[in-house]
Amino acid sequence: MWLGQEEPPFQTCLPESSNRPKAPTPMITLRSYVLDQWHTGTGDPAVLVNATTEEAIAQCNSEGIDFQAVLNHARQKGGPALRAMSFAERGKLLKGMSAALQEHREELIDLSIQNAGSTRGDAKFDIDGATGTLAAYAYFAKQLSGGEYLVDGEGVQLGRTARFWGEHLRVPRLGAAVHINAFNFPAWGQMEKVACAFLAGVPVIEKPGTATALVAWRTAEILVESGLLPEGSFQFICGSTGDLLDRLEAQDCMAFTGSSGTGAKLKGNSNVVQRNVRVNIEADSLNAAVLGPDTDPDSESYDLFLQNVALDMTQKTGQKCTAVRRILVPADRVDEVAEDLIATLQRTRVGDPSDSKNRMGPLSSAAQFRDVQEGIRRLQEHADTLCGGPEPIAEKGFFVAATLLKARDSSHPLFHSDEVFGPVATLLPYDGSAEEAIRLANLGGGGLVASLYSNDSAWCREVILGIGPWHGRVWVGSDRMASQSLPPGMVLPAMIHGGPGRAGGGEELGALRGLEFYMQRVAVQGFRGNLKAAFPAHAAEETAASSS
Ligand code: NAP
Repeated sequence: MWLGQEEPPFQTCLPESSNRPKAPTPMITLRSYVLDQWHTGTGDPAVLVNATTEEAIAQCNSEGIDFQAVLNHARQKGGPALRAMSFAERGKLLKGMSAALQEHREELIDLSIQNAGSTRGDAKFDIDGATGTLAAYAYFAKQLSGGEYLVDGEGVQLGRTARFWGEHLRVPRLGAAVHINAFNFPAWGQMEKVACAFLAGVPVIEKPGTATALVAWRTAEILVESGLLPEGSFQFICGSTGDLLDRLEAQDCMAFTGSSGTGAKLKGNSNVVQRNVRVNIEADSLNAAVLGPDTDPDSESYDLFLQNVALDMTQKTGQKCTAVRRILVPADRVDEVAEDLIATLQRTRVGDPSDSKNRMGPLSSAAQFRDVQEGIRRLQEHADTLCGGPEPIAEKGFFVAATLLKARDSSHPLFHSDEVFGPVATLLPYDGSAEEAIRLANLGGGGLVASLYSNDSAWCREVILGIGPWHGRVWVGSDRMASQSLPPGMVLPAMIHGGPGRAGGGEELGALRGLEFYMQRVAVQGFRGNLKAAFPAHAAEETAASSS
């Protein structure tokens, strides 16, 4: 239903049954990589499908893996092998991994188009994100010398004179890093965590989201085939993690990305709790875009607002943890903004992602399709539908329309708690004051990113300080930066990613800050001369350590 219009308010080029290839695609069996060998699961496999045609394309299963042996292998082989390397050597490893994946870029893009319903642009976002983050960490490694420790900040005089001195060091932890990732970034999600763990000197056990594991698996396979990975440094579980979490110990860590419900469940694993296994959770977020009251409709910042909101709604078909879900607009401008936003969304051509003209493909899986349809229906109970809706828009494939709604009551809890993980956002009218913007943005209970669009620096300052405690990142769009800006949905390796509360309470990336999770900070106290001789900090390292 398109607001009573006969034609949908966007361009479509949707696949029809008759256009589909006749020859069945051969089924690929995805394997796990454990103990430096490929393992084919023995149980009933999970089936992965082409999100456009719904054809089964791959299967995976992890039964038969001895998870204690996997952990032992990481701790006993992988950790020592990585820690025997200097930071510079680990940086070179990351650079080599980035180059190996880059060589297979086109193949990975094709797999992403098939399995995840990604358009070519969406696929590049994931795959170039993976190679780019590995390369960025190879670059950050150049700031570091040695390999056994990092000096953390300035030393401190503890005694009457400087003889009795204190330093903080960071040393690599001795366990394994278990990485459990979401379906929506099978390449980037995997590699942004690996980059930090490897540079810190910690081996990885990776478990990707099953629905899109084809790209994650091929990424793993390319890296294994490259011959670059030290023995035991990288293991890959395609399917269930079995009793892995029940076997974690105090030096291990678990970094999870996914829904807040699963995150809470895994964090609450009794073994993880009892042994104080270090946990980082990256969960969901009702990201807000806030249009400031001063933003002129003819300004560059207003254009930027429209482009970014439309991009966030449609890029990866809205399956992006940083995508805008709540659009705060001064109440007296809501109608005009809705009209402009619908016009911008209309320019996004929806259809078969293998056609390079299309800019939005289907959702990634049948489960996602069902969840998004149900989510839109829940929102519709409290909001007016301005375009789109929950109805399927193609005969086959998991296609929904970009859906823009307008809240009847901007404070209704549903808009601030229900993440509909698809091309869906709701306009929330507000009175334009910094106070009201802060109140509404913070109702999200913790966000990954909030974007502000305003040239009024005093208004921005008040909002930044007001929402800062509840957000991991605040992005400020204005006329002066519009021509150079990268969109707020883009996570950059130099900046931290994560957010408090609902967003998981975690933190990743942020240049060398990303290594902290994998290292133990230890305070060392003693004779200053001895400490300085034993743990010299080179100029570059000192700068790096104190900045992180
Ligand atoms: P999910 O259903 O919570 O699953 C996340 C991961 O956890 C998957 O690998 C899943 O494996 C695994 N998992 C589920 N139950 C498990 C268990 N009992 N033991 C071990 N692993 C288990 O989330 P999703 O649907 O993949 O991803 C979408 C969500 O992720 C959205 O809410 C989005 O906001 C969030 N997300 C957050 C970020 C961030 O950086 N903050 C980034 C991307 C996505 P299976 O696939 O095999 O079930």
